[in-house]
Amino acid sequence: MHNWTQFNHQGILASAGEDAYALIERLYPLCRSITGAGTRQTLDIIGQQIELDRSEVPTGTKVFDWIVPKEWTIRDAYIISPQGEKICNFKEHNLHITGYSTPVNETLNKEELLPHLHSLPKYPKWIPYTYNYHSEDWGFSISDEQLHSLPEGDYKVVIDSDLKHGHLSYGEHLIPGHSEQEFLIYSHICHPSLCNDNLSGIAVATELAKFLKNSAPLNYSYRFVFAPTTIGSITWLSKNQDKLANIKAGLVIAVAGDAGQLTYKKSRNDDSYINNLAISALETREMPFGIEEFTPFGYDERQFCSPGIDLPIGRLTRTPNGCYPEYHTSADDLNLVKPKYLADTMDACLDIIELFENNQTFRNTQPFGEPHLGRHGLYKKAGAYNIQNNTFAILWVLNQTDGTKSLLDIAQRSKLAYSEILNASKALYDVNLLELID
Ligand code: ZN
Repeated sequence: MHNWTQFNHQGILASAGEDAYALIERLYPLCRSITGAGTRQTLDIIGQQIELDRSEVPTGTKVFDWIVPKEWTIRDAYIISPQGEKICNFKEHNLHITGYSTPVNETLNKEELLPHLHSLPKYPKWIPYTYNYHSEDWGFSISDEQLHSLPEGDYKVVIDSDLKHGHLSYGEHLIPGHSEQEFLIYSHICHPSLCNDNLSGIAVATELAKFLKNSAPLNYSYRFVFAPTTIGSITWLSKNQDKLANIKAGLVIAVAGDAGQLTYKKSRNDDSYINNLAISALETREMPFGIEEFTPFGYDERQFCSPGIDLPIGRLTRTPNGCYPEYHTSADDLNLVKPKYLADTMDACLDIIELFENNQTFRNTQPFGEPHLGRHGLYKKAGAYNIQNNTFAILWVLNQTDGTKSLLDIAQRSKLAYSEILNASKALYDVNLLELID
């Protein structure tokens, strides 16, 4: 018996949004990076909500054209000003330390110190997020206001860190469905105390996984990957090349909790299945949303859409990365994201997934002429509710189910609402006029 998936998620959205926000509050203080303890603790906490299959890939492993870097450990970092004041204190805000800073314990004058300090003149009160993965150096982030108040004199710089042979960590959660074909959801876990980018994506993905796990039976399988951006997706792709053929569609979920409207970024191939699914599902929500054309920059869609991989994976954000002032600064904090926006992103994801679940391909079992609808109880008398559309939808479905077209293809060809085509298909399936093509 075929399973028609229908999520009853409206009732749980508000509490899912609150749960997602609570997860963000727990993860916010941790100092994540592309490797290290904060990233592992993040996976531990996600793993308390959904079972995670963890991987640790050793430093030095070749992953396509990249090499897994050394693991970074940061314990403490600060500067003592000439007046004896502790500034740029990592323990007060982990954005003060530039990610992957090497250990330092020395005294410098102001002129020697300044090239290592990074600020944001446009937003003088905020601390920018800085990192330096690819050359061994050190730095601090500081508000521009504080930078301009620094006196001449000697500064004691302490960074208690190390860069050693270690591992790159990621976690996966698989929800098996009837088919081994998969929908992939990817969220990056490498940013330190930044909420919208990307604790929001992590939290929405975690709530989605919890919801889908409780929604069995599912027609397809769902794989959630929580890994660092760029090196994480490259590592995951290089280690899972045997799984890629099963990926039918997917989304990178990031920047999912701000007040802006949803934005879908297309995958590399303009005609890809995910582009059709995501845009169709977002249109039926009847709420404004943006569509961004594919570009080879942004988040992990770059790797999923590289020419040798070329998967049907798009990206769902609210305000896109880089397009809101708080992006990559200390102002991307717990005030920027709200439970209701997290819930709205989750709602959109579930609409896309519900469409994916039901958008299957059927074959008309009586294709020689039209079947006698009245005999199957499908011809409604004049005056019956919605007779016209319902009959049109039934005739379109019967005509197009030659085993090559999905329900969404039929909706688009007939210009009828997808919901009409779905309902007609259910009715036809119930009287054995349709069979599923597996
Ligand atoms: Zn970012």
